[in-house]
Amino acid sequence: MKPVIGIVSRRVSFIYQQRPYPRYGVAISYSDAVMAAGGAPVILPLTDERTLLDTYYGLLDGLLLAGGQDIHPLHYGEEPHRSLDQVDPMRDITELDLCRRALADDLPIFGICRGQQLLNVAAGGTLYQDIHSQAGEDRIRHFQDFTQEWPSHSILVEDNNRLRMATGTSKVLINSYHHQAVKEVAEGFKVTARAPDGIIEGLESVNHTFAVAVQWHPELMAERRDFNFRLFQLFVEASALRARSRKSLPAPAPQA
Ligand code: MN
Repeated sequence: MKPVIGIVSRRVSFIYQQRPYPRYGVAISYSDAVMAAGGAPVILPLTDERTLLDTYYGLLDGLLLAGGQDIHPLHYGEEPHRSLDQVDPMRDITELDLCRRALADDLPIFGICRGQQLLNVAAGGTLYQDIHSQAGEDRIRHFQDFTQEWPSHSILVEDNNRLRMATGTSKVLINSYHHQAVKEVAEGFKVTARAPDGIIEGLESVNHTFAVAVQWHPELMAERRDFNFRLFQLFVEASALRARSRKSLPAPAPQA
């Protein structure tokens, strides 16, 4: 059996013959990368119902936090800046809930772009709501207008972490699609990579088996089978170990 990797969806507007048909959706590239790495992706709808969240969480061997909208700043104790972009309150609730369960339970987590920000907020950290208005106008451009699978800027990777295990080297080129970034790193997490302007491009928990996040989109570069794909392999391997340890536990004794 393959490890089950949960990916929380987003609301997608789909118009057919001038009528709206709201949908849940996730970019195909996330599922493709998880499948190629040996995992079984499952796409989850949005909900704040506790028993549904209990049920969905119980299915998972790993949690993939995908890219997407801004996280509402009320979740990290700030009011919305005028440069705050689109938010989806129900997605915030669904993902923060599942992510906090995963952190409390040491379930493997891999955060991508918004997912890195979500992981940081779930663990108590904060964000720049808009890099250029809050972190300084001299920061580099973190949004590219050209093909997604091509890199846009370099990052410097620290020693001794999962990302470095994937890259094998201290400097790599990555794509960039974000206007927000991690500001204060959550307690228990360390920075694994930075852009040349200091913006945080990688995070990892020092207390968890696998709670790893990157600010770029490795799923869009995973077909190269380089460090981008290796990150998915490391995540799916950790999830497979988790699945095996869970399934080998004795069944709980029936309640008297
Ligand atoms: Mn960037």
